[in-house]
Amino acid sequence: MAEAVVIGGGIAGITAALDIAGHGIRVHLVEREPSIGGHMAQLDKTFPTNDCSMCILSPKMVDVSRHPLVTVHTCSEVKEVSGKAGDFTVTILKHPRFVNEADCNGCGDCVQICPVEVYNRFDAGIGVRKAIYKPHPQVVPDIVIRDTEHCIECGLCYDACGTGAVLREDTEKTVTVKAAAIVVTTGYRTFDPRVKEQLRYFDLPDVITSLELERMINASGPTGGRLARISDGTTPRSIVFIQCVGSRDVAIDRPYCSCVCCMYAMKAAMLIKEKYPDTEVTICYIDRRAYGKGYEEYLNRAESLGVRFIRGLPAEVCGSAGDMTVRVENTEKGEMVTIHPELVVLSVGMEPADDLTGLTQMLGLQADTTGFLSIEDQKVAPVRTLVPGIYVAGTATAPRDIPDCVAQGGAAAMQVVKDVYRKAEAWSL
Ligand SMILES: Cc1cc2nc3c(=O)[nH]c(=O)nc-3n(C[C@H](O)[C@H](O)[C@H](O)COP(=O)(O)OP(=O)(O)OC[C@H]3O[C@@H](n4cnc5c(N)ncnc54)[C@H](O)[C@@H]3O)c2cc1C
Repeated sequence: MAEAVVIGGGIAGITAALDIAGHGIRVHLVEREPSIGGHMAQLDKTFPTNDCSMCILSPKMVDVSRHPLVTVHTCSEVKEVSGKAGDFTVTILKHPRFVNEADCNGCGDCVQICPVEVYNRFDAGIGVRKAIYKPHPQVVPDIVIRDTEHCIECGLCYDACGTGAVLREDTEKTVTVKAAAIVVTTGYRTFDPRVKEQLRYFDLPDVITSLELERMINASGPTGGRLARISDGTTPRSIVFIQCVGSRDVAIDRPYCSCVCCMYAMKAAMLIKEKYPDTEVTICYIDRRAYGKGYEEYLNRAESLGVRFIRGLPAEVCGSAGDMTVRVENTEKGEMVTIHPELVVLSVGMEPADDLTGLTQMLGLQADTTGFLSIEDQKVAPVRTLVPGIYVAGTATAPRDIPDCVAQGGAAAMQVVKDVYRKAEAWSL
């Protein structure tokens, strides 16, 4: 049976894997994190409908993991690729989980008893997890992972596990598979705002990123959905969003628009206004880019809920914890505005995923000047690369929103299906 490999288990990769498998082709979905889902699993609601993100994603995560033609490899990366279109050999490296995947039933008894707490990267740094943990409640596969870097070897988890699944020792494993085609959906990471020192992220506790805000307003997040200041746990009465942090900024080599930040800021602002109508929410922007179907109406809805928009970007956040000041020129009115926000949200842009260089070299792919993966042609071949048999989809090639990632995942899958059902001699075209 023909096989394909999809690298990256976010919404683009899950969509590609499901569509390829739906056409009778065996798929290996390779994800380096302990769970598939990618960034979409971190979101609360999604624009422009404000549907619950996990309500859409979770059934797809379960479907792909249970599909008889899909093998999900978590904690895994591609180590080696050889061959050519129609006949790739792919070596997958599986990092140790220190838990026997077949025996763990995900009950969480080990997590309950673990005495160690460390920051949870999934909660974007604002929540904690144990040394043996699930990054979030809806992980797929529904099993734990033991973090040996922080584990103090107290032994409680071994005793608590009824099935004896927690392992003292574990090793890396490799598995080699054949693939007629490969789809790369390695996604993005968010801009690190420490680069822009004047915005005081890390220095002032109540300057947070938009992804941290997503976790905070998420009912399954670390605060149970309660909007709370990091400094003192109180609900902020005044919030300022600063747009384009790490986007449209040639001074820091990020000249491109990150495509989703205007929309996700409006989304968060609306959700806050609905829950806390007395909280003042201001969005400081360069342009309001509401380009998709229903997006302009979304912007109008934000305005009607009382979200204040100021055309202008503050250059810095001044003051101290508990007494912050933001000054911004309203370029529509030609006046300076001074705000004393209790929470500042930095709308961080998108960048290519970490550690892409090794993978791109291995696959013979190129990155463009922004660092995102190059495609054959923006207009007529947006998911094809210059390497036959290797396709790309989602935010691995450029910032884009979820509907676009889904469309591209499906498009890449159809390229794979087309290739697989072609005759062998066509590969050299
Ligand atoms: C704060 C914020 C709010 C947002 N809100 C919305 C919204 O409301 N609506 C909307 O449409 N969009 C929203 N977005 C955008 C949305 O997050 C993305 O469009 C979408 O999640 C991208 O999916 P993806 O599959 O391309 O990438 P990702 O979700 O980044 O998935 C990529 C996956 O690949 C894995 N990976 C990376 N490298 C490797 C490797 N070498 N080997 C194996 N696996 C690898 C990663 O671990 C990850 O699981 C928001 C973005 C942000 C930052």
